[in-house]
Amino acid sequence: PAVAHKAALRLAVETLRPDWLLLAGTMVALAATIFFTLLFPLLIGEVFDFVRAQGGLAGKAAGAAAINPFAAAGVAATPTSFTAVLLKLGSCLVLSATGNALVAWCSALLGERFGYRLRGRLMETLLRRDQAFYDASTTGDLVSRLTLDVTVLQTTLADFIGQRGFRSMFEVVGALLMIAVQQPLLALVSCAITPLLSRLLRAVVVRSSAIIYQRQTLAAEALEYAAERLSQVQTVQVFAQQEREAGAFAELSGSGYQLAQRYAFFQGVVEGAGRLAVNVGTVALLGFGGWLVIQGRISVGALLAVNVFNLFISIGLSSVAASLGELGKALGALERVSELVAASHPATQDVAATVSSGSAAGTSSSSSGSHSASAGAPGHSSNGHGSSSHVIAAGSSNGSSSSSSRGASGVELRDVWFKYPGAMNWAVQGINLTIDPGQTVALVGPSGGGKSTIAALLLGLYTPQRGTVLVDGKPLVPKTDGGSGAAEAGMAAVLQQPMLMSGSVRQQIRYGKPEASHDEVLAAARAAHADEFVSQLPDRYDTEVGERGHVLSGGQKQRLAIARALLLQPKILVLDEVTSALDVASERYISSTLRSMAATKLIIAHRLSTVRQADVIVAVADGRVVEQGTHHQLLALEGGTYRRLVKTAELGAFWAHAPA
Ligand code: ADP
Repeated sequence: PAVAHKAALRLAVETLRPDWLLLAGTMVALAATIFFTLLFPLLIGEVFDFVRAQGGLAGKAAGAAAINPFAAAGVAATPTSFTAVLLKLGSCLVLSATGNALVAWCSALLGERFGYRLRGRLMETLLRRDQAFYDASTTGDLVSRLTLDVTVLQTTLADFIGQRGFRSMFEVVGALLMIAVQQPLLALVSCAITPLLSRLLRAVVVRSSAIIYQRQTLAAEALEYAAERLSQVQTVQVFAQQEREAGAFAELSGSGYQLAQRYAFFQGVVEGAGRLAVNVGTVALLGFGGWLVIQGRISVGALLAVNVFNLFISIGLSSVAASLGELGKALGALERVSELVAASHPATQDVAATVSSGSAAGTSSSSSGSHSASAGAPGHSSNGHGSSSHVIAAGSSNGSSSSSSRGASGVELRDVWFKYPGAMNWAVQGINLTIDPGQTVALVGPSGGGKSTIAALLLGLYTPQRGTVLVDGKPLVPKTDGGSGAAEAGMAAVLQQPMLMSGSVRQQIRYGKPEASHDEVLAAARAAHADEFVSQLPDRYDTEVGERGHVLSGGQKQRLAIARALLLQPKILVLDEVTSALDVASERYISSTLRSMAATKLIIAHRLSTVRQADVIVAVADGRVVEQGTHHQLLALEGGTYRRLVKTAELGAFWAHAPA
């Protein structure tokens, strides 16, 4: 945890650094304020001694004041007039009030700026984290760190600088110095309690930081739970699980409560012990100081001033204790926050590891020497024979494969192996797949076979442990800014179950290109068969959709997601189960749009009509390419996976496919 502590503190310092001038100014204002505040008891003592010297108070000889507090402070022993003393007192009051106002203002500002900057930085970092990070995190946890923990930090910072921490420490030290200047022995008495107190304080910090880390983590779990159940309230109600869910939530938040309960008791003990120590100190000081007055060594005014200083010390110490407790909590929160920043984007692909291939890629008869196992365009297939593992290799000699020809890019997965973080088995193992520019490749196969994983790898969402993804012969490399590199390589994608972000239809469609013109939006919407239903929305392209807006059907959302991808005029288009939610008319329409597009297409589909139109059909099972060829070629394979899938499909209208 020492390393974690260090990283956390570094984050705090980095976040605070741009405001160093404001921080320095606040500290100066704070020091000045405390100076004036500490003059106060001296002036009260002065008033006291003045009144007494004028015979206002009964007592021994007025001149008994052997040690006058102002002798030390360099103030005249006998003020000329009462008014002058009161004036000093008054101006001291005004100055300290002004200083206080300034400090309160600046420290609150510092806290706000700190929180604002930290949240911004966290969000930026989060958006750049890779998929593996998101697979391992829950949204509730991330959101609670981004909001709750940062808020704890921001208020603690403001409080520590302006209200209790630094101020109280300064006050305690200043008051001790003041006492020491007047009577070193009294200062010693006042100091006697500090070892005990400091031990208490350390315990408070350590304990608080550990507890708050746990408590915030538990709170995040409860938050996640609540968010998840509330977003699926329909399921909860239809299955009549309200009571059980409420109970489970209560239990979750209850464990946080138990922790808080123990902490509350701990706080009580600390508070009591602290106060006891301070009060014992006060009694000792009064006894010893009183004896000094009786001996005629100090004046009554001085004793009074010393006592007020002692009051400063005891109040100051207890608020230091409280603020250190807060600081401990903030440390816990800071650690949770800095964990989000800790690791950076994974290293770029290991290109060197890709050279070895030699797996069952299908002995390609291609003359180009590449792993091209594609079947070429329809009508161009040359009845490939002699291929191992059912991969029908038909050399792509149609000449178009030279390079990215007019708006389409070639894609190659070269001996790609990938295992999800923490998974036992390879999700894909030794995939070799070449897609020539402009070709349409359909991935088919049983659920869990690895189709979506191939799409995610192609999009650069994950980095394969072995092998390379190449676009136009160049390895796809994650961007240092956290981008997957897909957009830069001219890819666009429509993923499974597209979710809309809040915003208008127009904003949805031009998400990847915010500066797109209305004509571009319109063209994309038409191509995606979305214009028709958008025209019927209350505000057409300005209708708010997404979670808060107009409710769209699954198929409508999907069409917007398609329009969003088409607007980019991608060179490579990845479509993952896109047609699943579409009605037949939309599906036909979009299929014909896609056919007319120049882009290279990788389609994961389970509608036979979509699949059979592809140039190449690739059957994937157990993370391997098991068959590859055209519809007719694969259908001819006795006992083949594709043949089996088609037979099943002919029974129903769809592929047998249960989404996980
Ligand atoms: P398909 O798209 O063919 O249904 P997937 O590519 O989704 O198959 O899944 C391939 C394998 O990888 C499956 O065993 C699945 O359980 C696993 N898998 C998919 N996504 C993840 C993930 N985010 N984390 C861990 N394992 C995953």
